[in-house]
Amino acid sequence: MSAEMQSYIDEAEQALLHTYNRYQVVFDKGEGVYLYDMDGKRYLDFVSGIAVFALGYHNTEYNDALKAQIDKIIHTSNYYYNAPAIEAAKKLKEISGMDRVFFTNSGAEAIEGAIKTARKYGYLKDGRTDHEIIAMNHSFHGRTMGALSVTGNPHYRDAFEPMIGNIRFANLNDFDSVMAQVTDKTCAILFETVQGEGGIYPATEEFMRKVRTLCDERDILMILDEIQCGMGRTGEMFAWQRYGIKPDVMTTAKALGCGVPVGAFLMTEKVGQNSLAAGDHGTTYGGNPLACAAICKVIELFEKQKVLANVREVGAYLEKRLDELAAEFSCVETRRGVGLLQGLVFNRPVGDIITEAMEKGLVLINAGTSIIRFVPSLVIQKEHVDDMIAILRECIR
Ligand SMILES: *Cc1c(COP(=O)(O)O)cnc(C)c1O
Repeated sequence: MSAEMQSYIDEAEQALLHTYNRYQVVFDKGEGVYLYDMDGKRYLDFVSGIAVFALGYHNTEYNDALKAQIDKIIHTSNYYYNAPAIEAAKKLKEISGMDRVFFTNSGAEAIEGAIKTARKYGYLKDGRTDHEIIAMNHSFHGRTMGALSVTGNPHYRDAFEPMIGNIRFANLNDFDSVMAQVTDKTCAILFETVQGEGGIYPATEEFMRKVRTLCDERDILMILDEIQCGMGRTGEMFAWQRYGIKPDVMTTAKALGCGVPVGAFLMTEKVGQNSLAAGDHGTTYGGNPLACAAICKVIELFEKQKVLANVREVGAYLEKRLDELAAEFSCVETRRGVGLLQGLVFNRPVGDIITEAMEKGLVLINAGTSIIRFVPSLVIQKEHVDDMIAILRECIR
């Protein structure tokens, strides 16, 4: 590493709050599926800013759309209408089949909105103020207090108790465990369609259908967190679209703006008419013209560049190549995932493998201590998968 890059890292450790153990690299620019550090070293990127940069770095059309919006107006306020937000909401309705959109600044904030929606829906129904939400063990929904309260991982929560009240936990894909938590106070059941941070666990079709039926029968809201698994990552625009069901509320973020910080929570018309009303919720930045110009261009480019077809094709290829690794090495237990959201499960910690991959010019990330997670850009090609597998094989060896 150059003295210059090292001095930046030293300064970072003096200035930034130490909430991350960062890899020893300063990334400077990106091109397609490659990142370059300050010293000009090139890295093949299988993280894409944690499932964010779906269209690849330095996408000219995307960049030009943002530049054009910057020259018009970056921000107004949600007290006024703006054209990019209207267009982005229309497009988001089209690709999701949901009816009402609220734009946020992040994933966690979309979860906060979904929680408030559920509580208000319950309140309008029976006037009670002690409604419960059922969330899942091993889930991840973000770091704000509400999102943390529905995150089923004590490691993230313990030092920050007390959480918001009336959250109960069940196990994903174990419908009986959900039933055991249902009471007459339950207003929502919330989970990730594919658990991301918790270890790349897709919901089973049976679980999905049973939860949907239960929610219909008891007028409980089914809330799906699509922040990581949505926006094309599984080969469908949203992961739940594979299951032949529809949630009442869903959240999205990460790849939604492809790098511009933005999220959203969406709901059906019925929930929209019976939950948050004027004055109930707000945000200064959420859905500002710049963020929404990004969303519009992202959705447009997904269609133009046939991103979903690429995810299906390259995702299937990635599965096959990872399955080969799992068969080849006894320290690899299995592969799990859908499309370009994959996990390789080891019987040992993977930290040293990831560090060595960085040295060899490959960016990977973990999910928990013993899983390597693959969340590359959605425009990645088979030859990139081959290059990645070759480096990873050396590192495992
Ligand atoms: C990343 C993530 C969040 C939190 O999003 P932020 O933008 O970091 O607040 C919530 N849910 C899931 C499933 C995520 O992967």
